[in-house]
Amino acid sequence: MELNEIKGIGINTIKDLNNLGINNVLDLVTYFPFRYEVLEKTDMNSVCDGDRVIIDGICENTPNVYYISRKLNKMSFRINTGDSVKKVVIFNRAFLKNNLVPGKEIIVIGKYDIKHNEISASDVKFGLLKGTTIDPVYHSSYKINSKKFHKIINMALGKEPVFDYVPSVLNEKYKFMDKGRAVSIVHNPTSKHLLDEALKKLKYEELFLFMLKMNYLKNNNNSTNGLKRDVDFEEVDKFISTLPFELTEDQLKSVKDIYNDLVSPKRMNRLLQGDVGSGKTIVSFISLYINCLAGYQGALMAPTEILALQHYNNIKNLFPNLKVALLTGKLKIKERREILCDIREGNIDIVIGTHALISDDVIYKNLGLVITDEQHRFGVNQRSNLKNKGITPDILYMSATPIPRTYALTLYGDMDISSIKTMPSGRKPVKTILKSNAEIKEVLYMMLDELRKGHQIYVVAPLVEESENMDMENVYELEEKMNKAFGKVAKIGVLHGKMKADEKDDIMDKFKKCEIHILISTTVIEVGVDVANATMMVIFDSYRFGLSALHQLRGRVGRNELDSYCILISDKETQRLNVLTNTNDGFKVSEEDFLLRGSGDLFGLRQSGDMSFKLADIKRDYNLLLQVKEDSNNFLNSNDYVSDKNQHIRILLENSTNLD
Ligand code: ADP
Ligand code: MG
Repeated sequence: MELNEIKGIGINTIKDLNNLGINNVLDLVTYFPFRYEVLEKTDMNSVCDGDRVIIDGICENTPNVYYISRKLNKMSFRINTGDSVKKVVIFNRAFLKNNLVPGKEIIVIGKYDIKHNEISASDVKFGLLKGTTIDPVYHSSYKINSKKFHKIINMALGKEPVFDYVPSVLNEKYKFMDKGRAVSIVHNPTSKHLLDEALKKLKYEELFLFMLKMNYLKNNNNSTNGLKRDVDFEEVDKFISTLPFELTEDQLKSVKDIYNDLVSPKRMNRLLQGDVGSGKTIVSFISLYINCLAGYQGALMAPTEILALQHYNNIKNLFPNLKVALLTGKLKIKERREILCDIREGNIDIVIGTHALISDDVIYKNLGLVITDEQHRFGVNQRSNLKNKGITPDILYMSATPIPRTYALTLYGDMDISSIKTMPSGRKPVKTILKSNAEIKEVLYMMLDELRKGHQIYVVAPLVEESENMDMENVYELEEKMNKAFGKVAKIGVLHGKMKADEKDDIMDKFKKCEIHILISTTVIEVGVDVANATMMVIFDSYRFGLSALHQLRGRVGRNELDSYCILISDKETQRLNVLTNTNDGFKVSEEDFLLRGSGDLFGLRQSGDMSFKLADIKRDYNLLLQVKEDSNNFLNSNDYVSDKNQHIRILLENSTNLD
């Protein structure tokens, strides 16, 4: 069923959904909440300063609204909870003012500041709390907020049957809930217990399909169906000798691994692992070069526009004689059409881009090599999509999230692995320092020191998972503070997820040119960005991140022989964060991350930087993954697999890999 057949979903909404990759009813109903908000009244007798609270009561006065800037307004009012009156402050909700009349029943969610008896609210809802309610929270987009998602998903629910990809034997074995019911419950949970059951089923299915594809690929990987290239290594060597630096031993070894794959008829399916800053990019560029020498097109897919642009500029400088194109989501229709035409006709040697590289209308003349940077950011579907673009292009994945060996073997069982274990010489380890919020002054002085040396600083704003909106407010609030502290000595720039692509590029560009000295951002800078003069990374509320994500962030600095610093600001979980102050080794960090991660943290927030399954999490659900691995293998080798009732599973597998 098509989206336009559903009453109530307008043409503009459909366009916005399409932009998010939601093209039909099934896509829409499987756009799952990324978290749930459990609304339960907080016992105010047992809260500590800074805790998140949920209270209800009566609005006491007409709110005051201040417009701080074009994009930022601040509203304040008082709430009477029956026991007490508290001040509430909330950003960018001026539009609620007319409804917030004195006497109105309201629910306020936010952080409680005991000393000022004030709540810094993230949300204000109308009505009073009734027992416990569980509200789904969806990743909001520029156009569609979480509430609207919920509304339109509910319009689409039940309009089309959802296929259950878990074979009935397994459904019975684990007493799983029916798929349709599970989908409906995750969008409208009525109890924690039911929600748990529904999520269990859907996570299992997700992992099951992943493993099934993996096993299927492994079984079907015909080792002689790759492209055999005729390239002399001397030519590669010649190019390497023109580089401004010498490749490290591991880089050279990786280049040779890849070269051997590319010249042999065996199809390459390789993972290039290496800590942030270890120099994977140049290895990928050399791979693209080898591929071009043999007359094939190459594609490099980056997870963000910023990174795609950076790669594009670098590769153009490195290979002025090659025809390189940048294909991102923000191209004008006409530009895009021209580039697509050039790609189809073979006038382009190398295409760099984001997801736009894998849209259906991109047709390559002779795609020989596909590289995906920061591989863990892409789901398996996207990966197989990209594979299908060429005849049998060779595949190189790059990842800076060093996955402990056991996990790597489970997840990448079908791949060869090259690892870059040593950093380029001359790098000093990043000094990592943990500070509490009370020590902020010291942090500011340290920042000032760096600025005086002419160095630049990244500041990561406190992360709010609720919505990108809140992140944005936090970023602007921090900008204000930084301006107060450094406005006279430094230029300050802001980067957040809601900015348009060209605004982001503009800011990044200024930072690269040192026209901006302090860059405040959400985690958009997490991956790949390379500015050597930046020597300090300050991360607020760092406890909210996984260790690996923090390690990635820290990898943005320490890119040359200068002393560099990572300052983690947190009042909580200092023991966990100390892992980072003790080691700079990404593999050690990720081992610790896996060890420390609690299980079953259903309502947890710490989601940053993992493999992009919709619901499952390879760390949290690792035991499930192992079970699934076994189940899927058994299933593939059983008669059950070829039986009629499982035809839809076979079709899915064959389609996802039919050109392999
Ligand atoms: P990552 O592995 O995180 O993608 P990059 O490829 O971005 O790391 O490399 C980080 C920086 O190190 C880049 O500025 C790059 O030019 C530089 N670099 C890469 N290899 C070497 C080397 N062998 N010697 C010196 N600098 C290098
Ligand atoms: Mg990189």
